[in-house]
Amino acid sequence: MTAPITQDVLTLPRKLPETDKTNIVGLTRDALREALIAAGTPEKQAKMRLGQLWQWVYHWGVRDFAAMTNLAKDYRALLAAHFTIELPEVVTRQISEDGTRKYLVRIAGGHEVEVVYIPETDRGTLCISSQVGCTLTCSFCHTGTQKLVRNLTAGEIVGQVMLARDDLGEWPVQGAPKDETRLISNIVLMGMGEPLYNFDNVRDAMKVVMDNEGIALGRRRITLSTSGVVPEIARTATEIGCLLAVSFHATTDEVRDQLVPINKRWNIATLLEALKAYPGLSNSERITFEYVMLDGINDTKEDAYRLVELLKGIPAKVNLIPFNEWPGAPYKRSSGNRIHAFADIIYNAGYASPIRTPRGEDIMAACGQLKSATERARKSKAQIAAEAGL
Ligand code: SAH
Ligand code: SF4
Repeated sequence: MTAPITQDVLTLPRKLPETDKTNIVGLTRDALREALIAAGTPEKQAKMRLGQLWQWVYHWGVRDFAAMTNLAKDYRALLAAHFTIELPEVVTRQISEDGTRKYLVRIAGGHEVEVVYIPETDRGTLCISSQVGCTLTCSFCHTGTQKLVRNLTAGEIVGQVMLARDDLGEWPVQGAPKDETRLISNIVLMGMGEPLYNFDNVRDAMKVVMDNEGIALGRRRITLSTSGVVPEIARTATEIGCLLAVSFHATTDEVRDQLVPINKRWNIATLLEALKAYPGLSNSERITFEYVMLDGINDTKEDAYRLVELLKGIPAKVNLIPFNEWPGAPYKRSSGNRIHAFADIIYNAGYASPIRTPRGEDIMAACGQLKSATERARKSKAQIAAEAGL
């Protein structure tokens, strides 16, 4: 099979929600300001109203205009007449034995994506999705076997963060002392989809999430993972400013072509050049090289030594990911011994090489296991298209 490495194969258009109101969630500050003016807010007041509304929505997590007590009653009515504050719908929530939470989330058109919350002792990471499915077909990835693809809107991306905060009870309580511990301290764009094939929406969403007057998550607490969409890599630094992770997974083009088919378009040498040029790299801001450990495929000592050679000149750390199996997967996880031997070689060459502990395996929430339930149930494409109103 030839690898579809364009953005637009099998992409379904979105069914628009049946309302002429604008959803506030996901609008950038500029877009929201414009929308407020278009709805009748006097231009002179727009900046102040924007600030007030932004705080209600993103700092306090309020969804009801009527509760926005520092706005005049008739202005609240005006807002309610023109806007909504809407999140994607949580269809199911599963909690793993290890505390990992997986949300199946339904978005406009009936499509579904998965969101995973991973609590650790010193942090809590939310893994969010950027697309329904993925146009790329990495051979070890469950999401890549899902045919249906559509880009999420910025609102649907921000909405994933907000619904997880709802579930975790993480919005501040008015009048209560400020609680500095963050349940969601980090965000990784490592769920379903290739974020750099939905760049503008991912960027706008992350701007909202980073905004200091709202959710206020620092740019270094966000990591975007890409399979290697070379032309968009530099923009990640200049337009979002977050950290970068790259799904590297192989040390020769021959093997990477098989595992990460986008390699046929931008090979290892081209990818490394783009990574070397990533703006703002330093020892405190390194690129994470993700490397899935596949038994007998990419896990030899020679691979480890080659990887060290390839990393030269790039502030990097290597995240070793024991392969997470899924039904019908064509690979097996490397043995613990292999993984440790591989990690030691990388570590001895001077690079951090943590082995990622699989989380939430009992609920299929681990890396690469995400695939929406509609697809799992083998719903026909025609059926999904019909539901999407096509
Ligand atoms: N599309 C982006 C982000 C989503 S995938 C990307 O490919 O980088 C997030 C990470 O999970 C990637 O590093 C991906 O290679 C890895 N992954 C996918 N399937 C996996 C599996 N079955 N086991 C372990 N890791 C997997
Ligand atoms: Fe898409 Fe990433 Fe899965 Fe590859 S690993 S198919 S790019 S989600």
